Amino acid sequence: MTSVPPHEDRGTRARKGEAVKEAVQIPSNAVPCLNLQGDQWVEGSGSPTEVLSPLNGALIGTLRASTRDDVEDAVRLAAAAAGPWGRTPLKERCQIMFRLREILHRDLEATAHIVSAECGKTLAESRGGILKGIEVLEFALSLQNLDLGGRMEVSSGVHCEYRREPLGVVAGITPFNFPAMVPLWMLPVAITLGNAFIWKPSDKTPLTSRLLGAACLEAGLPPGVLTILQGGPETVEGILDADDVAAVAFVGSTAVARSVFTRGTANHKRVLAMGGAKNHIILMPDAQRDVAVEGIVSSFTGCAGQRCMAASVLLAVGDTDEVIEDVVRRAGGMETGSAMGAVITAESLTRLERALDTAEKEGATLLLDGRESASPAGLEGGYWLGPSIVDGAAPGSHAATEELFGPILTIIRCETLSEALAIERSSAYGNAASVFTTSGVVADRVACEASAGMVGVNIGVPVPREPFSFGGINASKFGQGDITGHGSLDFWSDRKKITSKWVSERAQNWMS
Ligand code: NAD
Repeated sequence: MTSVPPHEDRGTRARKGEAVKEAVQIPSNAVPCLNLQGDQWVEGSGSPTEVLSPLNGALIGTLRASTRDDVEDAVRLAAAAAGPWGRTPLKERCQIMFRLREILHRDLEATAHIVSAECGKTLAESRGGILKGIEVLEFALSLQNLDLGGRMEVSSGVHCEYRREPLGVVAGITPFNFPAMVPLWMLPVAITLGNAFIWKPSDKTPLTSRLLGAACLEAGLPPGVLTILQGGPETVEGILDADDVAAVAFVGSTAVARSVFTRGTANHKRVLAMGGAKNHIILMPDAQRDVAVEGIVSSFTGCAGQRCMAASVLLAVGDTDEVIEDVVRRAGGMETGSAMGAVITAESLTRLERALDTAEKEGATLLLDGRESASPAGLEGGYWLGPSIVDGAAPGSHAATEELFGPILTIIRCETLSEALAIERSSAYGNAASVFTTSGVVADRVACEASAGMVGVNIGVPVPREPFSFGGINASKFGQGDITGHGSLDFWSDRKKITSKWVSERAQNWMS
């Protein structure tokens, strides 16, 4: 392992709340990222891909994509495992998942280092993502006590009952930006409900899958209940075309989400595809200054802006100059490498730098230009962009409408709340919207009128805690329901309704 120098060694400043600066352990040799089929770790048969660490650009992994033949073999193994697993009583399935929870906690640090090394996050962010994933696992574990089915006597001697049944083989396709959390949005509920789950991790961040797969095997999950298939588009297409895959959850960009939804549903699968985002924060003149500054800065810089819940546009209503000055000061004081991570690839970095060029050409002003930030010492080969703030953007401009997915905040000045809400509502996306205000009336209006699935009041990243489910609207989601919470139960299972009559002596009525 190569260590990123500790923060103190580089004499940089800390973001609030990050007292200890820690070194990410970056693998010094390329780790082979394998498929998990049954209880065997095997190479895919497709073309090779290299995995580079965003922190220093070093080669940290290799993978071979899974071909259609690999997918077919894997689906066959998963289908064989699905029957016995689905017939295992829920309480027994939960015992294995309880053990998985313990192992994930035990391995939290090791997993956080791998997530940071392959994804470029700070260790604090990597830990937070894993813990959020464990929270979804805990929701799944409550099923054994809360999802009791239901039975009642609906007529004299006649009972109606529902039972939740697994679908068989199901799949999840995940993005680069949360290599542990997003699969843990899916895997615990899908598996606890009795399905065999096929996971295709992002080909940009495949290293974490080895740890999660090993944790599932160690917990006692029978071989075949979890399958991991490395790869890219060809692997995804194989999964979408496989007859025995009943349901597919996808999380990634809108263009791919839309095509996954179209192809999967055309093949008669249940599909829920979460897409990209362009999230707005409305800043009112009455906002509590320190709360707003902290909320805005942490939202657009957290995970280097590579969160589908990150603030991207600040709709500054009326006189908000003092807050904006503080936002610029606070963000400008953040050091890349300790307070903020790297962006995922060299291509991403170039795209973001070009977005700043375009913003200037379109007439906006850069209050903060992240291109001027130095790379952290020893990490010059990484993909670093400091926090960037674009001011005075026009509502229809590139920076105001496109998902940039980097640490760039675009400010649009508005005269009224109505004007701000109209801009927010005109976005094609609909994941998150937040407002900073001390007025309950304003907050309630934003909650009612924002065109977003998740709304925050004085919160910059309004990710709901479980069991409040995660899910956007508009072009941020294709399909019904949310990816976590109660709605996820109906996605990963069927409710069978049983009506039975056993008593013949009681009074007869129209249904007897
Ligand atoms: P991506 O769409 O490029 O990739 C997502 C997955 O799809 C990966 O597993 C990838 O290998 C696969 N893939 C890529 N191109 C494909 C193609 N042409 N056909 C089939 N499969 C393909 O997304 P990303 O860059 O990994 O992740 C970032 C995106 O994910 C952002 O747009 C972000 O907003 C979004 N995201 C959304 C949510 C949400 O809940 N709405 C959560 C996290 C990330």
